[in-house]
Amino acid sequence: MIQARKWLRDAEHVVVLTGAGMSAESGIPTFRGPDGIWKQFRAEELATPQAFASRPNLVWEWYNWRRELIAKAEPHAGHQALAHMEACAPNFTLITQNVDGLEERVGIRNLVRLHGDIWETVCTRCGERRRNHDVPLSSMPPHCFCHPEALLRPGVVWYGEALPSSAWDRAVHAVEHADLLLVVGTSAVVYPASSLITLGIRHGAHTIEVNPQSTPLSNDMDLRLAGAASSILPSLASVFP
Ligand code: NAD
Repeated sequence: MIQARKWLRDAEHVVVLTGAGMSAESGIPTFRGPDGIWKQFRAEELATPQAFASRPNLVWEWYNWRRELIAKAEPHAGHQALAHMEACAPNFTLITQNVDGLEERVGIRNLVRLHGDIWETVCTRCGERRRNHDVPLSSMPPHCFCHPEALLRPGVVWYGEALPSSAWDRAVHAVEHADLLLVVGTSAVVYPASSLITLGIRHGAHTIEVNPQSTPLSNDMDLRLAGAASSILPSLASVFP
C-alpha cells in the first residue's frame, strides 16, 4: 500500500480500468461471481445479438431486471475515492467496462465507457440513441418512436460485437500515456478490454490490481492489493489532501 500510494501521488497521468467488481458493493451483481445468476440463464448467453434476435422479450426482461437493480444502487466509498483522485491527479482517465453509470453519479468527468450505457436505447432500424430512465419500461419489448415497427435494443455492447471505436481509441491513447494503471474489479478475461492491461504493462506504466481474487493477469502486475474496492480505493486516495 505504501508503494502504491507513492506511485499514485507521483503519477502525471493516472488511468483506472474498472469492471463489474467495482459495482458489486453497490448491490449490482458481477457476471462471473456466485451471485451472477438470473433465472436459469447465464449472462453471457443473454448478452449477445443472437439471443436478442431469437428471444427479444427474454433479453429485455433481463435488462429490465438489471435496470431495476441499478436504479436502486448507490455509489460507494470506492467511487468517491476515484472522484477524489480525479480532482487531485494532474491527469486522470477512468475507463470502465460497466454500463450502470455510477461513475457519473459521483461526478467523474473524464470517463470512457467501453461497453455502452444501460440507460440508452438504440433503434434497430435507424440506430438513433435515446436516454431512457423508465423503470420498468412502459412497453415490452420497447419499440422505436420514429419507426414503430422496429424494436429498440439496449445501448450496450454485447459479446461478439465491436467496441465503439471512439471509446476504444480514447482508452488506448490514455493507457499509452499512463504512468499508473489501476485495475479494479475485473476478471481480466473479457477481450479486448483486458488487452488494455497488457498494453499498459508494455508501455511501462506502474500497474496495480485491486481485487479480492487473483486473475489471469495478477502475476503480470507490479502490485496486487487483495481486497474490496470500497476499502482499498479510499485508503489509496488518502495520499491526496
Ligand atoms: P466479471 O464479472 O468477469 O469479474 C468481476 C471481478 O470483480 C472478479 O474478478 C471479482 O473477483 C472482482 N470483485 C468482486 N467483488 C469485488 C470488490 N468488492 N472489489 C473489487 N473487485 C471485486 O466482470 P468484468 O471483468 O467486468 O467482465 C464482465 C462484463 O460484464 C463486463 O464487460 C461488463 O460490461 C459487464 N457487466 C457490467 C456490470 C455493471 O455495469 N455493473 C455488471 C455485470 C457485468
